[in-house]
Parts: sequence; structure tokens; C-alpha cells
Amino acid sequence: MRYAIIGAGLAGLTAAYEISRLDPDAQIEVFEAGERIGGKLFTVPFASGPTDMGAEAFLARRADAMEFFHSLGLQDSLVAPSGLSSLVYSGAQLNRLPAGGVMGIPSHAEPVRELVSEETAACIDAEGEQPAIDWQVGGDMNVGALVRARYGGEVVDRVVSALLGGVYSCTADDLGIRATIPQLAEALDALAGEGEKVTLSAAVRRVEEARVKVDGPVFNTFRGGYAELYETLAEKSGADIYLDAFISGVSRDKEGAFLLKGGGEGSYDRLLLTTPAPTTAVLLRDLAPESTAALKQIKLASSVVVGMRFDTATGLPQNSGVLVAADEPGVHAKAFTFSSHKWPHLAERGGALIRASFGRFGDETLVRAEEDDLVDHALDDLQKITGFDGRAAGLGEIYTQRWFGGLPRYDETHLATVVAARAGLEQVSGIELSGAWAGGVGVPAVVADARAAAARLVG
Ligand SMILES: Cc1cc2nc3c(=O)[nH]c(=O)nc-3n(C[C@H](O)[C@H](O)[C@H](O)COP(=O)(O)OP(=O)(O)OC[C@H]3O[C@@H](n4cnc5c(N)ncnc54)[C@H](O)[C@@H]3O)c2cc1C
Repeated sequence: MRYAIIGAGLAGLTAAYEISRLDPDAQIEVFEAGERIGGKLFTVPFASGPTDMGAEAFLARRADAMEFFHSLGLQDSLVAPSGLSSLVYSGAQLNRLPAGGVMGIPSHAEPVRELVSEETAACIDAEGEQPAIDWQVGGDMNVGALVRARYGGEVVDRVVSALLGGVYSCTADDLGIRATIPQLAEALDALAGEGEKVTLSAAVRRVEEARVKVDGPVFNTFRGGYAELYETLAEKSGADIYLDAFISGVSRDKEGAFLLKGGGEGSYDRLLLTTPAPTTAVLLRDLAPESTAALKQIKLASSVVVGMRFDTATGLPQNSGVLVAADEPGVHAKAFTFSSHKWPHLAERGGALIRASFGRFGDETLVRAEEDDLVDHALDDLQKITGFDGRAAGLGEIYTQRWFGGLPRYDETHLATVVAARAGLEQVSGIELSGAWAGGVGVPAVVADARAAAARLVG
């Protein structure tokens, strides 16, 4: 069987490996538009060692992902973070991240008291007395709209958007509850299903009560960066990987086999598209117009990461990083990761390694800014927020990575769109779709979706 996979990011490479495992006679070809494999996983060779400029961690609580990485022989590469806490910068001061709650949404005012006004704190504590939320079981709502309506805008702009923005490059106002905080959607479902009064505080309380204390770190990463993962997948898959192979169209011949425009020779029995949603929409134009119509609705958020290596970490707070409130004036960055404080294996290199992140959905000004301006913003913001003087600390190395359209926007219509995109393919056999837009943003979610798509393709 001949398989063509479009895209050599995490989804494409995982699927290639999985197909090779399930169908040992498979002939697998992967077509990648860029000049390297890995997509949003990108490990850059800093002089001090390999350093991730895309994803830099993954959720270690996902047993399926951990087992998968072990099965690849990468168990000795997995490292846990130091356990230092993160901070949130709001109201021109550093604050602890609120304890409890879910994604910064509290069940009562106490955890966010130092971040919001007295009026907002009172509003949070009185939320249970408001009329019930009009929540339909299985339905969805915009995160920002719901929290604004129930607790007020300060909770959204100072806490929730800071936390969600660090993961999704979007504010809470551009995200849906079910796709980004599924445990909250389930708690709202449970209240509505049981005929209880549906309030935000009651739903968050349910999430808190259901939370099981699990030992061990929440996150892990790879000692040598994500290159360890994407290079292992590429090698173990045995696939032929073509770089600079931009596929601009797919069609079928008379026998129903797949033909590619822009790469490959002859026809393919099976086809997997792992490209970002807007590209997948274009590629499916002739084969599955209904899928194209659905996928066109998915918008992308851009961001830029500036990685900086300093000779000394003296003066940097003993924390793993800082999230910046979305409404904080005079600060350009949305987050700083103090990578050498967060990860012990990076601390061993000496000095300080810091990642500054900029950019949220709908505003590409910073993503398009000159590198010099971005570095200046990063150093100025860092000094203002933490007092750490990066210019005096010996800035030895800088790497700027722009992620145009780096992440899909998971709004409140997103999950229905994914269902529609896949349903549009039901009449076209031998083709599957995967990628972050389909299965969720995190590395474990992308891996799981790609493995499932590969298994369906092998049949
Ligand atoms: C800045 C940033 C930080 C992140 N941090 C984390 C994190 O810490 N933890 C975490 O779990 N997740 C994180 N993520 C999310 C995670 O990295 C992604 O969800 C995941 O890597 C996406 O993999 P993918 O294969 O779906 O897509 P991609 O990596 O986008 O791969 C798609 C590939 O298709 C190629 N392609 C596109 N068009 C064509 C075409 N026409 N022909 C051929 N090839 C084409 C692209 O060049 C690309 O290589 C982060 C993402 C970003 C952007």
C-alpha cells in the first residue's frame, strides 16, 4: 500500500511512524513545504545547547503520550520541571498565580483578591445569586463572554486571558469553553443535566471537587529539545520525507487513487492531510467541498518567540516565568518563560535562558516587528516587570522565531466545525485529516489524533 502524508509536523511524523508499525509493508512518503521537519516543534542549536523555539513542554499527565514516548525509546530523555511557580504581572506588580479554580476562573473571590477590585471580588462571591446561566447540555459559550457576564471584566483581562493566552495565543474572548476548558464545560453540563441551578461558581467548584491529587510533575520536556522526538519519529517511520515540497492540490484518478500537485510521482492508495486548517481547506476543494467550507471558518493566531541567553541569572526572580495581564498598559510581551529556572537541565548550562512571547489573535503588529525592536521590548519589559537588567547581564545569544498562523483559534464554534470537516469526507474513502486544529493544541492531543487517523487509514 502506498501512503502520502502532507506535512512533516508532529501529526504527519507521528502518523508516518504509526502507519509503519501497523502496516509493515507500507510505502510511506511525507511531503513537507518547509526546509526542515518538525513544524511547530523546532529545536535551535544555541551555543549553550539545543533550545526549543516552538513548543517547549507537554502535559505529562497524559498517560497515552508518556507510553508512546517510552515506546519510541525516549524514556531517558524525559525531564521534569524544577517546580518553581509562575507569576502574573498585573496592576504594575507581580502577583502569585491564583490557586485552585480552573484556568484562572475562581469559584470564590479569595484566590484572585490581590488581582481584582473590591467591587469585582464582591461580584464573584455573589455570583450564585444571579439568575442561572442559560446553558444547554452539550452546548458551548465564549469563555470571555461568560466570565465577563458572571464575574466582570477584570477577571477576564487580568487573569483568564493571561493564562489562556500563554497556551492559545488568543484572549478569552476568542476562545470557546468546550475546546479550551473541557472540564468546565462538563461541570456546566452536569449541573444542567441534574436540574441544578447553573452558575459559574458552582461549576468551578465541581471542577475543584473532582480534581484528584496526582503525584508527579504536570509537565515534562525532552532533554535535547523536541528535535529528539521529531527526528526519532522520522527515522523510525522509515518514510521517504521530501522537503521543500509544497503540495498545492490533490485529486483522484479514474481508479480512485490520489494524485498530488507539487510533489510525488504516480498515485497513492491512501492520503493523510496534516496541514493547518486553511491549507487543508484549499487542498480539499475538489475532493470534499463541504469539508472545505467548514475548514475555512477556522482562523489562525500568530505569535513570536524571542529566545535570549544571558551570562548571568543574578537578579532574575526564582520563578519559572511571568504571564502578563491582557489589559496591562506599557508592556509589549504577553509572557516570559525563565527556561533555565523552569528546567533543571537548562540550568546546568549556567547563565540564564529566557523566552519572551508576543502576539495574540487579531493583532500581528508585534509578530511583524523588526527583530531589534522585539529584543528591546523584551529587555525593557523584563526590567520593568522583574528588575532584571538583561543588557547588563550579558546578552550573548538571541533567536527570533515568528509563528505566522501558529495556532488555530479554538472558539465556541470550533468543535462543531471539526465534526463538519470530518463529516464532509465520509463519501471519500482512503483519506484522513489530522493536526492541531482537529484533535486539540497540546502535543499529547496531536499525537493521539494522528495515531487514530493513521489507524483508520490502515483499516
Ligand atoms: C509558539 C508555540 C508554542 C507552543 N508550545 C506548546 C507547548 O509548550 N506544549 C504543547 O503541548 N504544545 C505547544 N504548542 C502546540 C504544538 O506545538 C502544536 O499544536 C503542534 O506542534 C502542531 O503539530 P501539527 O503537526 O498539527 O502542525 P504543524 O507543526 O503546523 O505541521 C504542519 C506541517 O505542514 C506543513 N505544510 C503546510 N502546508 C503545506 C503544504 N501545502 N504542503 C506540504 N506541507 C505543508 C508545514 O510546513 C508544517 O511543517 C505550541 C505551539 C506554538 C506555535
